[in-house]
Amino acid sequence: MDKDEIICPVCGRSQNIYKVSQIYLESLTIFDKNSPHPIFDEMFGEAGKDLYPLPSRYGHDFTRTFSPPSGRAEWFRPIHPDIFIFVFTVLIAFFLYSIYAQQPSIVYPFLIILGVAFIVYFAFRKKLVSRYQAEVAEGKNSFVSVDLAVARWMKLYYCAKEGLVFDPETKTSAALDEMKKYLLKA
Ligand SMILES: [Zn+2]
Repeated sequence: MDKDEIICPVCGRSQNIYKVSQIYLESLTIFDKNSPHPIFDEMFGEAGKDLYPLPSRYGHDFTRTFSPPSGRAEWFRPIHPDIFIFVFTVLIAFFLYSIYAQQPSIVYPFLIILGVAFIVYFAFRKKLVSRYQAEVAEGKNSFVSVDLAVARWMKLYYCAKEGLVFDPETKTSAALDEMKKYLLKA
């Protein structure tokens, strides 16, 4: 596709539009090299051109800003309450064991508190599990797979004038620092 055909849906200009995947790949090749580069020389522009400020083109932050969404999309995956309680119980068991080794007598009040905590948990477990299931269902509907997000990333362009990324097909856009969220959103 000819670069000149790509028009930013926000400002309607075709100047200072760059392909995101190309910026990313080029940034890997020029990393730490202080040599001139046709794309970056233009992207960072001359003074007075009013282009969107970016982190240094020779640093990791610059590469990361344009990098594709990685496999670490699990951050929005909710944790099953039973797993949470299991981990909590294991940690408490270690904690109580170390107290028991030093001062066996003060372990009993802790055991009573722990027992009450379990009773409270099982009283609310049904509610917590159904809320967890609702979150999982919602997560499936609100996010796309990382594979699809990467495919979307391949089509993205960057408008250096406003510091936003856009998909020329769907004509949707997002701020550069919101790019990953935009790509993963269903
Ligand atoms: Zn624009």
